[in-house]
Amino acid sequence: MQAEIITIGDELLIGQTIDTNSAYLGQQLGSIGISIARKTAVSDKESAILSAVAESFSRVDLVIMTGGLGPTKDDITKKTLCQYYQCGYRRDEAVLAHLEALFASRGRLMLETNQVQADLPALCETLHNAVGTAPGMWFDQAGKVLVSMPGVPGEVYHLTEERVIPKLKVKFPLPTVEHRTLVTLQKAESLLSRQLESFEASLPPHLSLAYLPSFNMVKLRLSQVQQGDAVGSEGDIDLYFDRLQQAIPEDVFCLGDIDPALYLSNYLIKNQISFTTAESCTGGWVAHRLMQAPGISAVYPGSMVAYANEIKSAELGVDPEIIATHGAVSEACALAMASGVRRKFGVDLAIATTGVAGPGGGTKEKPVGFVYIAVATQNGELCKSFRLIGNREQIIQRTSNAALWMVKQLLKMPTDSAA
Ligand code: AMP
Ligand code: MG
Repeated sequence: MQAEIITIGDELLIGQTIDTNSAYLGQQLGSIGISIARKTAVSDKESAILSAVAESFSRVDLVIMTGGLGPTKDDITKKTLCQYYQCGYRRDEAVLAHLEALFASRGRLMLETNQVQADLPALCETLHNAVGTAPGMWFDQAGKVLVSMPGVPGEVYHLTEERVIPKLKVKFPLPTVEHRTLVTLQKAESLLSRQLESFEASLPPHLSLAYLPSFNMVKLRLSQVQQGDAVGSEGDIDLYFDRLQQAIPEDVFCLGDIDPALYLSNYLIKNQISFTTAESCTGGWVAHRLMQAPGISAVYPGSMVAYANEIKSAELGVDPEIIATHGAVSEACALAMASGVRRKFGVDLAIATTGVAGPGGGTKEKPVGFVYIAVATQNGELCKSFRLIGNREQIIQRTSNAALWMVKQLLKMPTDSAA
């Protein structure tokens, strides 16, 4: 089953508002087995909306639209749909009552322009919008369904989840879709795919593997799409998910579609491993990412962000000789920062970063993106250099992912999702 999305609004085209609705809708519809064949953004112009709808319906039987349903004159979606379906308006008394109650509860006067929001195209079914003033609309004509929702993202979420998805499930025979996701860090997508060649070749047609790469991290998502509930033993997604893990045992960081930093935070809390960071090129970003889990303060006393050499020496105890001999971006300095901060805070585990985040400051030996990461525990330490690519922000993000990966190496962390 395929659908198209049309987002309406001049503000989307000039880049004043980022179109987040279609990303959300893509995820939601994908989760019930409807794939998005195309997304179109159009201006608040009748001709643009009419041609977009006609074109979409020439390709698919389901069109989901957002935007252009406000009470102001620039929002013309409703009027345009009346024209498209060649119908007039009907007043929806339930919508009017909802509007009156809404305005009364907010102590606001209801204007004529607001009342007009209760006038809907005669051919549509009302999708009650409990969180806003403009209802959604469901048109089902000649075997083709069009859904129109207001543009406000919170209202789109509400209408999609409470009204649209339940109706779509009744209207169309949708397949069951299941996903299993795992997170890998460090290894490039191309290398992973080479390692997974025979695994991918072994997949039955209703299973597929997607690579979702971002900054030294690749999420692998195994999807199973099946019509009805016939699941053959060949098609058992869990069986293939196990095989996927076995094909890249060294690379799996954790299971589930989660931020690996959150996984690590939970692991540290659960195993009562106290930790700290000393960050030179990441400005506290590693610590920030590890703060996601509620209850983290049980294992995290604080961190040091230490950019100046004097601070590295005075606060972390890095021997000035090390910096003079090897430089601040060096294995010796990273290791000294890690052991220094671990002592300072009296914790089990310390992570240290030092490198060149750019865009300036690179040299031939230590170019932009050259980073050392050290991790230290009572039982041992590990330090590695990395050559990371991208802009400053991306290098910082890549460094933090590499740091998570190093912690896993040192602690020999398991990958189970229940950590
Ligand atoms: P409208 O229904 O056109 O009155 O839109 C209401 C609000 O939702 C406006 O503030 C828009 O900027 C916002 N909005 C409209 N379309 C989108 C979209 N595709 N993604 C995110 N926000 C949107
Ligand atoms: Mg608008």
